[in-house]
Amino acid sequence: MSRLGGKLVIATHNAGKLKEISALLAPFGVECISAGALGLPEPVESGTTFVENALIKARAAAEASGIVSLADDSGLSVTALGGRPGVYTADWAERQRFEGPPGRDWYMAMGKVEGLLCEQGDDVDRSCWFSCVLALAWPDGETAVYEGRANGTLTWPPRGAMGFGYDPVFVPLGETRTFAEHDPEEKHAISHRADAFAKLVKDQFGG
Ligand code: IMP
Repeated sequence: MSRLGGKLVIATHNAGKLKEISALLAPFGVECISAGALGLPEPVESGTTFVENALIKARAAAEASGIVSLADDSGLSVTALGGRPGVYTADWAERQRFEGPPGRDWYMAMGKVEGLLCEQGDDVDRSCWFSCVLALAWPDGETAVYEGRANGTLTWPPRGAMGFGYDPVFVPLGETRTFAEHDPEEKHAISHRADAFAKLVKDQFGG
């Protein structure tokens, strides 16, 4: 029996994520409100795993709002780099002072990954995976965690104009096109986020 229903706080200040998650949960009678709209503070993501960071965000929102909360954490892990950038995926895109104005530069981040791979020679293992962890936290302290994954390989140079982040260098397993060359609907059907959501829906709603 699901303890989800009625209101759910989405522990994000990102309008895009709120829209995507609200649409996915609408058929189950769940009304999504963002942590940003409630004025909840953003906790420091001090975890060293996707699970830890997703739980930090979900628990903080549930405690502050008194409403069941959902958070996600995601990123890219590269086999030949020992799983890096992993939880630091977004940080690798952060410009240093000498690299220009503050902000994120995804081409620079993709270039860093490619540069580290090239250092390992031409026959380096180019396999990688995107992870998405969804964490639910109830005000009484109960939690549930769902992990999704999309396996693939890294290509160079980047290709495609759709998607975001590292999509232009990620070729999902069994494909020749990058995620950035997939229509959003096509990507959403096979992505790490879709995988994690399918597990959440099955567990919470039996669907
Ligand atoms: P966060 O979960 O919002 O902290 O995001 C982590 C970072 O992982 C994002 O900023 C993206 O760069 C990267 N990432 C996560 N999912 C995807 C994806 O589907 N495509 C491309 N990059 C992604």
